[in-house]
Amino acid sequence: MNIPQLDNTYIANTYARFPVTIARGKGSLVWDADDKVYIDMATGIAVNSFGIADPAWIRAVTEQLCTVQHTSNLYYTAPDAQLAQLLCEKTGMKKVFFSNSGAEANECAIKAARKYAADHKGSEYSTIITLKNSFHGRTITTLAATGQDVFHHDFLPLTEGFAYAEANDLDDLKAQVAAHKCAAIMMEVVQGEGGVIPLTQEFVKGAAQLAAEQDLLLICDEVQIGNGRSGKLYGYMHYGITPDIVSTAKGLGGGLPLGATLLGEKVQDVLTPGSHGSTFGGNPVCCAGALSILHRLDGPLLQSVQEKSDFIVSSLTGAKGVKSVTGLGLMLGVETERPVKDVINDCMARGVLVISAKNKVRLLPALNIPMAQLEQAIGVLKDVCAGE
Ligand SMILES: *Cc1c(COP(=O)(O)O)cnc(C)c1O
Repeated sequence: MNIPQLDNTYIANTYARFPVTIARGKGSLVWDADDKVYIDMATGIAVNSFGIADPAWIRAVTEQLCTVQHTSNLYYTAPDAQLAQLLCEKTGMKKVFFSNSGAEANECAIKAARKYAADHKGSEYSTIITLKNSFHGRTITTLAATGQDVFHHDFLPLTEGFAYAEANDLDDLKAQVAAHKCAAIMMEVVQGEGGVIPLTQEFVKGAAQLAAEQDLLLICDEVQIGNGRSGKLYGYMHYGITPDIVSTAKGLGGGLPLGATLLGEKVQDVLTPGSHGSTFGGNPVCCAGALSILHRLDGPLLQSVQEKSDFIVSSLTGAKGVKSVTGLGLMLGVETERPVKDVINDCMARGVLVISAKNKVRLLPALNIPMAQLEQAIGVLKDVCAGE
């Protein structure tokens, strides 16, 4: 059997894969099994922050790999302690819990919020208000947090204690908060899977104010928009707010699985020995790679992310066959006149990998994609959108 046949025979049928077997890559270029080359505008869904086989990341990872690959959390190790320090120094958050994925980072955020509310207000204050059209993960609890019915059916009953407010509708958020005994409000400042839809300044600031007034925690799910992708270190930094809890994953590890839940002043001591844990969380190899990524997310790099974003937005806005461009930084959604599937397939045929988010073409290039490759990829996308 060839690889697709083997995969289809033995791997659970949860993914509608593209008919491409990726064999190798370098930076923002990937080669398939037939040695056809593509410009990678998807980065494994915002994971490969500095592209494929980035030399500095490989050095950091292999050095740690050859030193000790895993210890369990029963012992101290340097990479996770140093990464936690860097995350706190760069954000002003106070403590970090490490896990292995976005869903787990959100599970920790939800547990921390519930425990804080139970400790301070009573265990009946357990409801977490999330937003309609959100995406927070695939575990039974993060599915419950996800405000999209399509993900829910077939898996009921989900974890109780979630209610959903309309995104960018402060009145609805207030109504939901008033209708429940709440622990927290949880949001992605740019709804990624929901179609790359940024929340408005008014809504995010209003939600932060409401949370402060009502003694609710504000949780920002930065799994996709975080770690430099927005053009700032974290997406919430575009809104002038300070969340109580930040969850992140995807781009943090630069290609190895790593989730992090950042705990602010109020909640820094809520998790106590035995209240949460993970065997693999904070794995030293993953954390060593993440240190290499995070150290490089400095002012000049973030500035270049913003400039590349401006280039994409100005190239595509008003272009033939393009209805709209939304998002922040290098997480952009392009609404096209042609069906999104056709656009993706035609781009792939012409050597450009893009993915979808709902009805949009989603662009998630590496933060350091060379300008010439970005220009070439956007040129192809423009031609495909125009039907040329
Ligand atoms: C991808 C994603 C998740 C889930 O992350 P996994 O690593 O797949 O568990 C959660 N929240 C957001 C906003 C995401 O984009």
